[in-house]
Amino acid sequence: MINKKVAELMNLQINKEFYSAYLYLDMANFYADRNLNGFANWFNVQAQEERDHAMLFVKFLQNNNIRPELEAIAKPDKAFNELIDPLEASLQHEIYVTESIHNIYDEALKAKDFRSTQFLDWFVKEQGEEENSADELIQKYKIFGSDGKGLYLLDSELGTRVYAPPTLVLD
Ligand code: MG
Repeated sequence: MINKKVAELMNLQINKEFYSAYLYLDMANFYADRNLNGFANWFNVQAQEERDHAMLFVKFLQNNNIRPELEAIAKPDKAFNELIDPLEASLQHEIYVTESIHNIYDEALKAKDFRSTQFLDWFVKEQGEEENSADELIQKYKIFGSDGKGLYLLDSELGTRVYAPPTLVLD
């Protein structure tokens, strides 16, 4: 059995991960609307990864005989004006998700729920990578995004990102 409070927090995390997917889809739409299809691709891949994260929590709960309870997914409510806005919003969002994962981890540790901490280890590492890549994108945009040629090249680079399934696989 996994800890009840931990299971409740994981259930909430399912919603947060699906909301993340929704938020990134909204960001992809912002760029697609401006014909920056590389940026749109990058965020569409990001959205797909977030759906995978949600499904990992679903699967983990199911594997522990808990039926996930799905809640409504909120409407993405951030207004973007400048091209850098979604990039900065995504870093802030990842920092928020990291705190949420760490909070679950903290509860699991307190409860000596080591089955959960082992599962969450993957997410702790993943969040480090998510924050790094969001920060890297901001830095790249600041260097290259201010002139048309640089923006074109950056958009082309982001267009090459290909979706890969998560390295964590639950049977
Ligand atoms: Mg995630």
